[in-house]
Amino acid sequence: KKFVYFFANGVAEGKAGMKDILGGKGANLAEMTNLGIPVPPGFTISAEVCKYFYQNNRTYPDGLREEVKNAMKKLEEATGKGFGDPEKPLLVSVRSGAAVSMPGMMDTILNLGLNDKTVEGLAKMTSNPRFAYDAYRRFLQMLGDTALGIPKHKFETALDNMKKAKGVKLDVELDENDLKKLVELYKKIYEEENKQFPQNVEEQLWLAIDAVFGSWMSERAIKYREINNIREDQMLGTAVNIVAMVFGNMGEKSGTGVAFTRNPNTGENEIYGEFLQNAQGEDVVAGIRTPLPLDELKRLMPNVYDELIGIMKKLEKHYKDMQDIEFTIEEGKLYMLQTRNGKRTSKAAIKIAVDMVHEGLINKEEAVMRVKTEDVERVLHPRFDEKALSQAKSIAKGLPASPGAATGVVIFDSSKAEELGRKGEQVILVRPETSPEDVGGMAFAQGILTSRGGMTSHAAVVARGIGKPAVVGAETVEVKEEEGFFRVNDTVVREGDWISINGSTGEILLGKIPTIKPVGLEGEVAKLLEWADEIRRLGVRANADIPRDAEVARKFGAEGIGLCRTEHMFFEKDRIPKVRKMIVAKTKEGREKALEELLPLQKEDFKGLFKAMAGYPVTIRLIDPPLHEFLPHDDEQIEATAKDLGISSKELKDVVISLSELNPMLGHRGCRLTITYPEIAVMQTKAIIGAAIELKKESNLDVVPEIMIPLVGHINELVFLKKIIKEVADQMIKEANVHIDYKIGTMIEVPRAAITADEIAKEAEFFSFGTNDLTQMTFAFSRDDVGKFLPEYLQKGILEHDPFKTLDYEGVGALVEMGTRKGKSARSNLKVGVCGEHGGDPRSISFFHKAGLDYVSCSPYRVPVARLAAAQATL
Ligand code: ADP
Ligand code: MG
Ligand code: MG
Repeated sequence: KKFVYFFANGVAEGKAGMKDILGGKGANLAEMTNLGIPVPPGFTISAEVCKYFYQNNRTYPDGLREEVKNAMKKLEEATGKGFGDPEKPLLVSVRSGAAVSMPGMMDTILNLGLNDKTVEGLAKMTSNPRFAYDAYRRFLQMLGDTALGIPKHKFETALDNMKKAKGVKLDVELDENDLKKLVELYKKIYEEENKQFPQNVEEQLWLAIDAVFGSWMSERAIKYREINNIREDQMLGTAVNIVAMVFGNMGEKSGTGVAFTRNPNTGENEIYGEFLQNAQGEDVVAGIRTPLPLDELKRLMPNVYDELIGIMKKLEKHYKDMQDIEFTIEEGKLYMLQTRNGKRTSKAAIKIAVDMVHEGLINKEEAVMRVKTEDVERVLHPRFDEKALSQAKSIAKGLPASPGAATGVVIFDSSKAEELGRKGEQVILVRPETSPEDVGGMAFAQGILTSRGGMTSHAAVVARGIGKPAVVGAETVEVKEEEGFFRVNDTVVREGDWISINGSTGEILLGKIPTIKPVGLEGEVAKLLEWADEIRRLGVRANADIPRDAEVARKFGAEGIGLCRTEHMFFEKDRIPKVRKMIVAKTKEGREKALEELLPLQKEDFKGLFKAMAGYPVTIRLIDPPLHEFLPHDDEQIEATAKDLGISSKELKDVVISLSELNPMLGHRGCRLTITYPEIAVMQTKAIIGAAIELKKESNLDVVPEIMIPLVGHINELVFLKKIIKEVADQMIKEANVHIDYKIGTMIEVPRAAITADEIAKEAEFFSFGTNDLTQMTFAFSRDDVGKFLPEYLQKGILEHDPFKTLDYEGVGALVEMGTRKGKSARSNLKVGVCGEHGGDPRSISFFHKAGLDYVSCSPYRVPVARLAAAQATL
């Protein structure tokens, strides 16, 4: 078996496609060599050896030592130098590099091959003793630190003392004699630490190889993989690259640097980089000396600069992506030491992808695949100023319920939050949990923090709907609203204190952290999403209840409304008394009278919505929540409300009690309500069809209302309601003498409905999966209380994802797939959508695409993400 891959003088055994075994660094060194780019010769030990190393008690496979020996011999030939040769010593670097880049997390040792004899040879060979001893002391430090565990600071202290004694500030100001002395001091440090510095170069080499393989499992490497979700079990480990040294520290005509082929912050098509004269690789990052901008290199060494730019252009063209490169100049000769796809901000990622399509480097599909949905999300939500953020103190973490950054003063009371918010003050609404009465406060707060609830709790759903950052279910936050403070362990935050929340990470921070506004759907993001629209098959609609949200949704590219929750309109100040009047009415006549008053208001709402959507389909769901949600619950409010309604407190209290249920989410709600009180469905139908008729007459606008019946589990529920709705609608249309197309369909959110979808499709003209309820009922997880144990489920690995956020493919997903298949088999033109929170989740969207749905519907602010995810699902 082959473990070693050689590269030198334009010929390499490896190539870019071999990242799995050569690591990113090794594969790209090979690729660059094959492209004829100047790379010092070397070889890569395969990452398979790393795997063997850990499976076999840190030993190596048979034959490896032989292969390395042969490769070293070839390296000696390629360079014309000898490893350990006192006349013409070959020096090498021993560098880590895994398939996924983990910059700076693993070890690299430079200048290996130096000892008391070869350092003399190097001095003579280069006629530069100062340089030779500088290289030697660097090697002593690196080998001691990384391979032998000698604390780095000991070397640094010795160096600092030396500089102090000489009265100089920079390393480069030390002369040959100083460095010789430093070498002796460093050797003393070895002695103090009871470590032997190996004079034998073979021994040095294997110590370094051990150290690099060992660094794969170093604490910081493990941590880095954890934080960045890099799955260890999907990689072999690190490869080891052994590369002939080139020297940037030979004088003023030498140097080293790093550069990006485009600006990684903005994505601007301009070279972006830094370099240091007379320095070795690690000096640039170490920050001891301030590096110079690349423009300086242009001035100092114009030929080298031109060559570098040419190589960078070539690399970018070849890899078809922005490159992050490392280079070294030895006595005016340029060498490339690394190239990789550069890390970039979300903004840059989008700009670079779009620009590269315009430049003909990649096609639209590649651009769409290359941008991550999080990138789109990030450029659309406010972010914290990075610098201020790095200095802020994080006190707790909750669920990242609605992305974006928000800062404001803590307010516990929703009406107060609304009042201050209206005045333009920045507030963060902090509640144990929220209910429909808090919506006003939420709308005028910068962000929302709750201590209870999950990803589909009221607070989370509403916040996403209105595009407000929210952190929910922060269980360590103890809200004492009566006393006017909240507490996290020992930290007390009072009403009026500034806090900041990050709805993308769930982080809660002390103090005021400035935020940066998003760029919006303009320029490159708009272009990218246009391409996504050309590629995707799934339609994208929005969940919107009021015209303002519908307009936002249109701006973000929604092609209709997939869910309008009519009851949200009932909570408005001028309506709730009328709704309550309807609820407490004892007779059908009494209810009808109250509904009569609601009718014109609802009709106007729907007209607004239809107008905003200008002919795109609008799905309107009939009343869904249990009636007790519309009633007050504490004594004081009951009394006030009773007065308004002209009944006694006792009467109202009796109603409240009679409506209370042990499991309200499994209770008298959805179609069950309108089966008991068909007059509610009649009023809502009149409002919907009436709005459509009026718009047709007033402005000849063709609307296709889709009337959606929630919580159907049995075909007969649908049959019962459809008959009533149809009678009312047809009668109205006939009387108005206009042509209106409307549809009657159902939500599929009760498991029984998914199982009997073929039956249901005989009556339903469309389906919309309500995956929130469907998940709740399939798992039997109460979505409002799931925060109590779900974090533990995730932490203990019982579930991989929050099923309310990412669709559970095997369970809930199977119901979605079956419901779609059965539904379409019974009615071939059945339109099938999804309107749960999953409609805006990229992973779930990919599932919906494969399951054959026609569209997804999500909150307006997630529409751009859904457009991109739907396109990616096809590729
Ligand atoms: P990292 O993955 O931490 O960037 P590298 O293996 O790329 O580690 O090494 C760090 C730096 O060491 C490089 O940027 C380069 O400047 C320098 N270096 C590595 N190998 C050589 C070499 N053969 N000659 C000169 N400098 C080198
Ligand atoms: Mg590097
Ligand atoms: Mg539902």
